[in-house]
Amino acid sequence: MIKNIALVAHDARKAELVDWVRFNAGSLENCTLFCTGTTGRLIGAALSDVLGDRKPEVHCLLSGPLGGDAQIGAMIAEGKVDMLVFFCDNLIMQGHQNDVMSLVRLASLYNVPFATNRSTADFIISSPLYKSEDYERIIPKAIENYKNRKL
Ligand code: PGA
Repeated sequence: MIKNIALVAHDARKAELVDWVRFNAGSLENCTLFCTGTTGRLIGAALSDVLGDRKPEVHCLLSGPLGGDAQIGAMIAEGKVDMLVFFCDNLIMQGHQNDVMSLVRLASLYNVPFATNRSTADFIISSPLYKSEDYERIIPKAIENYKNRKL
């Protein structure tokens, strides 16, 4: 079941993510959101505006370039993130590009439903699996195999 959602957007795409959050506020109402600092501040304000008291918890981590992407990556590795929406600026390299790549790698490794653009985010949030109580994300065997590798 999708409960904990991580949301991150680079500056050039923050407006796009905030717009997506506003549009999907009703579907986010019962979730807990974890965001990089600045993204979280903007999303929190938008959700207060749309949902008022029904707004979900929005946890603002560090700003992305200051370690926020790495915090979300660590949460993924600890199994604390059920879905990631990460709108990257694809036109420039970031000072924290290594952290961006690490977050993408970990989301892929742990088989986290992961949108890097709005249409993918739309497909995930409108899927019947998004609200399913039964759906269990499979943790790839490669992880267990790696832990138990012979040295
Ligand atoms: P921000 O970080 O939400 O604090 O701007 C986003 C990022 O650059 O990863």
